[in-house]
Amino acid sequence: MLAKAGHGVGLFERHAFPRFRVGESLVPAVNLILEKLGVLERMDEIGFPQKHGVQFFSSNGPSRPFYFSEVRDERMHNTWQVLRSEFDRMLLDNAVAAGAHVETDTPVIEVCCEGATVTGVRVQRLDESEGIVQARVVLDASGQQGVVAREYSEQELIPGLENTAVYAHYRGVRMDTGIDAGSTLIYRLDAESWIWFIPLMGVVSIGLVTSARGILRFGHSRDEILQAAIDQCPALLERMGDATLVGEVRVARDFSYRAKRDGGAGWALIGDALGFIDPVYSTGLLLSLRSAEIAALEITCALAREKKHPDLSGFSTEWQVAFDRFLPLVRAFYTEDFRFGELSKHEAHRQGLIDLLTGIVDTEEAIGVVNKIQQMFDDEAASKP
Ligand SMILES: Cc1cc2nc3c(=O)[nH]c(=O)nc-3n(C[C@H](O)[C@H](O)[C@H](O)COP(=O)(O)OP(=O)(O)OC[C@H]3O[C@@H](n4cnc5c(N)ncnc54)[C@H](O)[C@@H]3O)c2cc1C
Repeated sequence: MLAKAGHGVGLFERHAFPRFRVGESLVPAVNLILEKLGVLERMDEIGFPQKHGVQFFSSNGPSRPFYFSEVRDERMHNTWQVLRSEFDRMLLDNAVAAGAHVETDTPVIEVCCEGATVTGVRVQRLDESEGIVQARVVLDASGQQGVVAREYSEQELIPGLENTAVYAHYRGVRMDTGIDAGSTLIYRLDAESWIWFIPLMGVVSIGLVTSARGILRFGHSRDEILQAAIDQCPALLERMGDATLVGEVRVARDFSYRAKRDGGAGWALIGDALGFIDPVYSTGLLLSLRSAEIAALEITCALAREKKHPDLSGFSTEWQVAFDRFLPLVRAFYTEDFRFGELSKHEAHRQGLIDLLTGIVDTEEAIGVVNKIQQMFDDEAASKP
């Protein structure tokens, strides 16, 4: 977006692309950003499966599916499940096409500053040589690594969401057909644990998310833990008769946090460097892309006003509002007696839930359901002695 707006952009990426990444299910609000980037057609050309909805399973059976076609804006009636190696490469190619100078295999090894102002970065190139790149603004898009975030901000873990994920890709899993073929399925094992099921190109991504302190009750090795979780879930197990593991079982932890500061003189945090909430509603890429979009707009305005390194503190207000709307819904998922069915009996609340699952946080219904959940937490807290 910055390159398209005519700015000189240098992008330094530690790894060679394509590279593996978790975070494969989009919510349809991402479509609006992909449209602005001009990559909507590429999404179908690559062949990512279409995602029309989400369905939740608990010991009481499946919820009614939530279909995105129930939101008003037709542009968000479906989205995609993405193999991140392909999706991220496509976005990187798009940045190059827009005029960004991209160097992969080139980690940032130091943030350069003058006093409290960030003035550039030191990078290590493929041939082992080091170089200083000066910039009016340094955007930290380094994810959980938080290259700038670690020095200039502080990542605050979100209490109550100290979860760990264990996940892998499988081939030969029985999938649904028709409109449900690309849906995300969420299997809730208990108040602390659930499994995601995300159909991708030729494989299905399956992952357990559970509390970090309780994970060893599933087993000791990664493979044991994931298999034990699948074994505890009959509705999933019946799909796995012919399934084989593809690649390795991986682990992610400490992923729910937000940075105390979003920016300062000459710097800003975007994507996971700014923050991330638990993966249960697949909001990660939406929040990441949204923070990047807001930052690009803010930087374009700021650079037009100021000569040197603009102060970007407070740029992410809109992102913080979205984060705070998703948070109660995430917390509710991890409470003992949370039932989507119960909440969606009320028509406006059902609409609010669908809006939020689509990634829309600002409709009356979405705000209504967030307030309702918050009220439930407040009542519960007030009833405790
Ligand atoms: C278990 C789990 C499941 C998830 N599931 C979903 C999901 O279904 N849907 C969804 O939308 N989101 C999901 N997410 C969230 C999603 O993965 C992230 O929100 C998203 O990847 C963030 O993108 P990013 O570009 O900010 O960071 P990343 O994708 O982490 O990219 C950061 C990049 O910075 C590079 N980098 C790091 N350090 C340096 C350095 N020093 N110099 C140069 N480059 C560097 C890395 O190599 C990497 O390529 C999930 C997250 C987790 C933990």
